[in-house]
Amino acid sequence: MQRISENNSTPQSRDDTSVHSDVLSPQAGDGYFPLNEEVTLRNIEEKLWAHRRQSDTTRPVSIPTAPDAKSEGSSSYTPSLKLSPLLVPKRAPLAEVDGKRPSLDLHLPPSHIGPDEESEIKVESHPLATYPTLTKELEHLYQSLQKCLNLRDKYIRISRQRLGDDPRDHDAVFTGLDEDIVDTEAVKPDVDYASKPVPQAKFKPWKIYPRPPPPHWHFKPHGDVVHGGKSTDDDEEEFDFELCTTPGIDETCDFEIDEKGVYQVYATKAEKLERKPLYEIPTIREYFLDLDYVLGVISDGPTKSFAFRRIKYLISKWNMYSLVNEYQELADMKAVPHRDFYNLRKVDTHVHHSSSMNQKHLLRFIKSKMKRSPNDEVIFRDGAVLTLAQVFESLNLTAYDLSIDTLDMHAHLDSFHRFDKFNLKYNPIGESRLREIFLKTDNFIQGRYLAELTKEVMIDLEQSKYQNCEWRLSIYGRIPGEWDKLAKWIVHNKLFSHNVRWMIQIPRLYDVYKQNGTINNFEDIIRNVFGPLFEATKDPRSHPELHVMLQRVIGFDTVDDESKPERRIYRKFPYPKVWDTNQSPPYSYWVYYLYANMASLNNWRRERGFNTFVLRPHCGEAGDPDHLTSAFLTSHSISHGILLRKVPALQYLFYLKQIGIAMSPLSNNSLFLAYERNPFPEFFKAGLNVSLSTDDPLQFHFTKEPLLEEYSVAAHIYKFPQSSLAELARNSVKQSGFEMEVKRHWLGRNWYLPGAAGNDINKTNVPDIRLRFRHETLLEELNIIRANQTGTSGTLSSEAPIPVTSENVAARAMASSQ
Ligand SMILES: [Zn+2]
Repeated sequence: MQRISENNSTPQSRDDTSVHSDVLSPQAGDGYFPLNEEVTLRNIEEKLWAHRRQSDTTRPVSIPTAPDAKSEGSSSYTPSLKLSPLLVPKRAPLAEVDGKRPSLDLHLPPSHIGPDEESEIKVESHPLATYPTLTKELEHLYQSLQKCLNLRDKYIRISRQRLGDDPRDHDAVFTGLDEDIVDTEAVKPDVDYASKPVPQAKFKPWKIYPRPPPPHWHFKPHGDVVHGGKSTDDDEEEFDFELCTTPGIDETCDFEIDEKGVYQVYATKAEKLERKPLYEIPTIREYFLDLDYVLGVISDGPTKSFAFRRIKYLISKWNMYSLVNEYQELADMKAVPHRDFYNLRKVDTHVHHSSSMNQKHLLRFIKSKMKRSPNDEVIFRDGAVLTLAQVFESLNLTAYDLSIDTLDMHAHLDSFHRFDKFNLKYNPIGESRLREIFLKTDNFIQGRYLAELTKEVMIDLEQSKYQNCEWRLSIYGRIPGEWDKLAKWIVHNKLFSHNVRWMIQIPRLYDVYKQNGTINNFEDIIRNVFGPLFEATKDPRSHPELHVMLQRVIGFDTVDDESKPERRIYRKFPYPKVWDTNQSPPYSYWVYYLYANMASLNNWRRERGFNTFVLRPHCGEAGDPDHLTSAFLTSHSISHGILLRKVPALQYLFYLKQIGIAMSPLSNNSLFLAYERNPFPEFFKAGLNVSLSTDDPLQFHFTKEPLLEEYSVAAHIYKFPQSSLAELARNSVKQSGFEMEVKRHWLGRNWYLPGAAGNDINKTNVPDIRLRFRHETLLEELNIIRANQTGTSGTLSSEAPIPVTSENVAARAMASSQ
């Protein structure tokens, strides 16, 4: 292994003489890398790698990852030379854990190494070979990256978003993990987890109701699907609201929104009067200070160049790994009985409920309703109640006229860079009244049609058995009663499925409600969104349906068109109670208030033994890449994230923290980024924690199994082998919010352990060597940053150029005030 890393470093050291390097190297002054240049870089690099093995190795080869002595200073890029010494101590325990192979199979056979490379290796591994000492600049760079990682840890810890923080994670087998070793999805990659004692069970084992199906369960059709009739299957437990226990009131703790717009929990009445909250939540000022710090780091020139090169290196390393190990992986997978791509558990980690069915399904449903129940009274318009037949009469349509073409909900031709047009695609036949009748939970028929449609999609999912979904439902924050209505819709229609969990999305529509007068200021939105949740946590009996629904809710998402300009109107941001202009607050402000209120709520819920939530916003789909910075600090994982390609340092931080990214290349293809330009395959190669998701099957997909369609297109276009599809499927389950008991059944007993130790190939079909490679690569990166720090001061120079965006200016203003 030692030789490998040295081997990797040889092109870099040789490349100081590269003719291309001054053209290709990123400049310290500009905010982000130009996309075209980056794509060209990738292409050149891939070609070079492909040709390199056979080509004459004595000829100087230019590889864009190489350090550029002229423009950046020769001392800045020595870390790759120092890789090997760092790797040595970590290797032995890893090999012991996994048993089978003593080390990674990435070793190239000696015949593959050219004479030049061998001689260079000799020079490097010679005991007298000297490495340049760590320069101040490099030391500073490592410290600042490390500080960013620590900042994220702080926010995640405070908001209780780590594995085991949620009482839902606890069952008879898993009793939590030691505080020091755990991260959001799994055990941290660089800790000695074996030496840490397993904590005492803090919570009662979480009871999943209705019970998940037993291991060898086969789908049996239900009785009368449409009317939600009794199940005929004796094994299947039918949901019964009466059987749900609702805990009583918390007599001691109380809550109140403070003057800064964050709900606080108080242990006693006296403490409430003194305003001494029970949990310490970062203030908005602290958040903007931290945000400012991270923004400074990721726009610092040397850091950008460093991260850019590390990512290039990671991708090249991946290419080499897969060239060498492809056949071994295939052999490992063939040796596994039964398991293949089709019977791997996959979770659609990002999909909106109101567009979860495909067009054909919706069309069939509308037609059947027109035929069977034309006299249903469905909508109240212009002072009169209309029946379904009357609605279609007013549209001049019959059931026979309807087709996919008239429905016109597909978005792949005319919606590119037109989020406004895309939003209109939610309206069948362009008619908002049809959307209201068929696709809304809160309408004249109390969402009955959508509930029936949802049940049908659930049955499709259960039938496929291996596809699972996390459906997003909207809470707008317009009025306080939204939660109870939504909860009643779910509970009374019995919308529970083994294959489905719920997420709550909060559309950032402050400006719309402000303009039509439903709210006065931003605090109204916070009160409407979080007030009922705190009430239901203090006294679940005040909102019994909501309590039951929340047990099946994973977390919060926030959605809207990210490409909307965020104009800067305040020098510093006002608190929500005084935010009463017509303009919506910027993304980072929304995210802070979701985060802070959720953090408060989570701590209290956890104390009460209720499940907690995570923050998984839409982020980095379009607009300002700074959105990604606020998500880096506050969020469990994100959806989209395609703009990480423009911010290499942040992408590197996302890699180091293995933050989940639910990507939807087909959706991006229709809206913001052509399929072939999507960074998804690069992210995957570099080792970012990515999964595939559908976003809106109604608008983007053609088949009954949209998630498989998404995998299928990716496999074709990006040429993913079966092993990579399996790894993606495994990632999707890890990122998802399904309960520990379910995940263990899907992925294996110790799925949360890092690398191959957490793998069970019989369940995941991912070869152990793949995960060992991923783990060792990640350790290497973490070690470079940690091991090379000598000093303790971690402050970044204030001279670091920060791009001028609304968020940055605000962050600066908040930071300098008070
Ligand atoms: Zn989405």
